[in-house]
Formats: sequence, C-alpha cells, structure tokens
Amino acid sequence: MSHVAVIAMGGTIAMAPSASGGIVPALGADDLVASVPGLAELAVTITTESLRSLPSPSLGFADLVALSVRVQEEIAAGAIGVVITHGTDTIEETAFFLDLTVPSAEPVVVTGAMRHAQSAGPDGPANLYAAIRVALSPAARGLGTLVVMSDEVHGARFVRKSHTSSTGAFVSPGFGPLGLVVEGDPRVRGVARPGLTLPADPRVAEVRVGLITVAMGDDGQLLQRAGDLFDGLVIAGLGAGHVPAAMVPVVAELAGRVPVVLSTRTGAGSVLRQTYGYPGSERDLLDRGLIQSGFLDPAKSRVLLTLLLAVGADRETITEAFDRYR
Ligand code: ASP
Repeated sequence: MSHVAVIAMGGTIAMAPSASGGIVPALGADDLVASVPGLAELAVTITTESLRSLPSPSLGFADLVALSVRVQEEIAAGAIGVVITHGTDTIEETAFFLDLTVPSAEPVVVTGAMRHAQSAGPDGPANLYAAIRVALSPAARGLGTLVVMSDEVHGARFVRKSHTSSTGAFVSPGFGPLGLVVEGDPRVRGVARPGLTLPADPRVAEVRVGLITVAMGDDGQLLQRAGDLFDGLVIAGLGAGHVPAAMVPVVAELAGRVPVVLSTRTGAGSVLRQTYGYPGSERDLLDRGLIQSGFLDPAKSRVLLTLLLAVGADRETITEAFDRYR
C-alpha cells in the first residue's frame, strides 16, 4: 500500500493551553493525525514524524534544511505525497523554501491552523484532512509545494497570510488559489512551478539577508548603520518598487557591495521595470544595480536570495533566478 508521510513542525495546529497562560506547542504528529476523522476510509498508510515542536516565528533556515532533507528522504522511500503541519506565521517562507529545494513530482503540502486544538471549532483537523487528500491527488503532482488551508489549494510562490486571526487568512493575491477541495475531493488546476531548483545547503543558516520595509520619510540612516551586517538585502519598496530620493545614495552604495533585491510592500503585483523616472523610482534603482523581484513578495524574495547566496551564486545567476518570477 502507498504511504503519505505527515511531518509535524509545531504551530497553532499543535498548540494547547499551558499552565502558565497562553497556548504553546503540545501535540505531535501522531496526535494530529489521530484527531482527523475519515482517514481510515482512505486507502493509504499514514506515517508520522514530529520533527520540530516550535511556534513558527522561532523556526530558522537550519530547520528548513532538516525538513527539506526529510521530505526528500520520504519521497525516495516511496511516499506518494508528504504533508507538513506548521505554524501559519511563517508557512509562506517554509512552503517556498520547499518549492525551491524539492524538485520531485510528488505533492508536498503544507498546512496549519488558525485555531488551536482545544478551541471551539478548531480548523486543524479539517485542514489536515484536506492536505492529505491533496497529497494523494494525481492532479496535484508536479505543481511544486502547495499550501492547503480552508479547503483552498495555494501555490507556494503566491500564497500569503493576510489576516491575524481569520480562518480564511490565506490568499494568493492577484492569482487566486490553484484549486479547491470540494466534498473532500481536490480539484486542482494549477500551473507547474517555474522549474528553478536549488540545494538545501546547510550554509543557508549562516547567510544574513536583511529585509527592510520602506516608509514615507525614510532618510536611509537606519539602513546605513545596519548595512555592514548584510550579505544581501531585500527592500520592500513603496508602490511598484520605489524609495524616497534621500535613501537612494545609501541603497546604491549597498547595491555596489552586496546583492540588493527590490520588491514591494503593497502585497500584490509585480515590481515595475520601465515606468517611473524620478530619483528613487524603479528605473533609477534598477539602473543602480538593484535586482527586481518580479511577483515575489519580500519574504519569498529573502528565501530565494538566501538559498542563492548559500551556494555562492554570482550577480548574473541571481538576476536570472529572480527573472523566472516575473
Ligand atoms: N503563532 C503561530 C505560529 O505560527 C500561529 C499559527 O500557527 O497559526 O506558530
């Protein structure tokens, strides 16, 4: 019989109230699978592993390397799909990291919950059930890593958490979900991942890529003071990829030393390339050596740049990699 591997990383889906107040990670992969009704009717063996038990803000790139390795080992051992349970705060980063480092056709599906296991109406069991159904679905093969929440199937390169508490927090701005789980049946009509595969190199844990969000009136002083710390930088720019004119000298100087990727803080759409011509515009910044992020949002741009820098990619390779997401 085929098998689906469920790997637990922590997050609200695995949390319960603690004696000292607040909810904390408490459940392992076995507990999570045991809480899902209807799995016995699926003709599949489900294996479980608790790899981490952390709130997702405290996961780091070293954890993602370990996860990517385990996912690839499960697939090599015959898993027809792998499901990861994960905190929702950084699910976007983990999903995109796996999308970039696991090239196999077998579905890799990340899910979580907005309500903890002992709340009134936890969404974790329903999300895990839907994720397992997607992992089993031939329609999900070859699409790269997927995020399944609230019966929606999102592509890793598009998905974002857009709400602090709603069970409908996950969206793919501008594109929409790749599919839906209807009556337990996945209907997926996605497009394949762009085909870029990078090694899950342990050196990612040593690469320091900063992410700064630009705001009105920023004169670049904070960035200037922190500039020496970065091996690379992602700028979440204003609008279509803009910074105040006062920041331009600082940004340009940094771009002369390390790769600086230009993304947008807007939450949707692509960075532009050839529209605005004022100091601090996208044309100005790209002329000064910044690299455009395409449709990749700032957090995903940071994941890609980190993976590229970990393997010593040069500027041309980095630019080509980001061009795939235009
Ligand atoms: N803070 C939690 C986490 O990311 C939120 C969640 O899982 O929904 O671990």
